[in-house]
Amino acid sequence: MEKIRMVDLKRQYEKIQDEIDNAVLDVVRSTQYINGPDVKQFQQELEEYLDVKHVIPCANCTDALQVAIMSLDLKPGDEVITTSFTFVATVEVISLLGLTPVLVDVYEDTFNINPMEICRMITGRTKAIIPVHLFGQSANMDEIMTIAKNHNLYVIEDNAQAIGADYIYSKKRRKKAGTIGHIGCTSFFPSKNLGCYGDGGAIFTNNQNLAEKMRNIVNHGMTTRYYHNYVGVNSRLDSIQAAILRIKLKYLDQYTKLRRQAADYYDKAFEGNENLIIPARSSFSTHVFHQYTLKTRNIDRDKLKEYLDSKNIPAMIYYPVPMHLQEPYKSFRYRQKEGDLPVTESLSKSVISLPMHTELDKEQQDHIISHVLDFVNKNRL
Ligand SMILES: *Cc1c(COP(=O)(O)O)cnc(C)c1O
Repeated sequence: MEKIRMVDLKRQYEKIQDEIDNAVLDVVRSTQYINGPDVKQFQQELEEYLDVKHVIPCANCTDALQVAIMSLDLKPGDEVITTSFTFVATVEVISLLGLTPVLVDVYEDTFNINPMEICRMITGRTKAIIPVHLFGQSANMDEIMTIAKNHNLYVIEDNAQAIGADYIYSKKRRKKAGTIGHIGCTSFFPSKNLGCYGDGGAIFTNNQNLAEKMRNIVNHGMTTRYYHNYVGVNSRLDSIQAAILRIKLKYLDQYTKLRRQAADYYDKAFEGNENLIIPARSSFSTHVFHQYTLKTRNIDRDKLKEYLDSKNIPAMIYYPVPMHLQEPYKSFRYRQKEGDLPVTESLSKSVISLPMHTELDKEQQDHIISHVLDFVNKNRL
């Protein structure tokens, strides 16, 4: 059996090695390492794939989120509502810009931000909402956009984990996750669903003014060379990464299909188990399975992870400590102490993510499944 990895980038690369090697060498030989033609071409191809007017490539998703917030002209102390059950980047950039992150609870089934909880935390200082499309499914964008409209708020989608997912309005009407709010952000970190071979990110928007401004901000706030209209940053997607992403974008839907097949196979094995709850499928989003995350019940989740580790089966806990309980983001004013976000806190103690990638085969999955079930059957509390 092939070695089981949480994400198998090696075997994925081997299948497209010739294409990738040629593309990378072409860039190397061209010497156009910064803003070479592949960057613009990738931008256009991604715009087409997402059906969005503007894609702004940048260095990573953390930068994308920061630049998105910078474009909104917020003032110190303004509040941005987001989920506590996320990767730190979402929250970090809010604090970094002198704004106040207001962290709220999530739905128990999809792990995504709960719009009712957003409503409860809106104040006169609230200026924006950042939903995170966690583990591969879109948050409830209909409700979030309605709340935003009623309170005159911006919506920035953190789409680092759900590129390619469809938000479903109705049978006929769909939009790509990340293109519904005012701004969407994504990551091309190697392990993401559309990953490059280093760091990379992008910002999406249908708003012409915001697009122009963000294009300037990622380039030192510069409109014309050496004339600076805004305080900016230096955040670019490398030409080599863009060349790699152009190839991988062609395979993205196929990769998603393989992830779904692997998820369905896990589902069949775990469905109905009293100690394992399989990932819920949202009615308003397709699932691209950035992670395959089980909720455990009446077993010791940490011991399960230790057991799998001991069998050389990698598993991960996303996320063991919610953001509202992390030292820099604790704030008593905003209901952010232990016990304040019960769903998030309980999830952080009960979830476990199993290996999920485009190269998982049945033999590997059978091996993973049998060890998970073995532990569960012998260690019910
Ligand atoms: C990975 C990730 C990010 C950060 O992406 P980088 O490209 O590493 O900066 C932000 N938000 C979420 C939800 C992520 O999963």
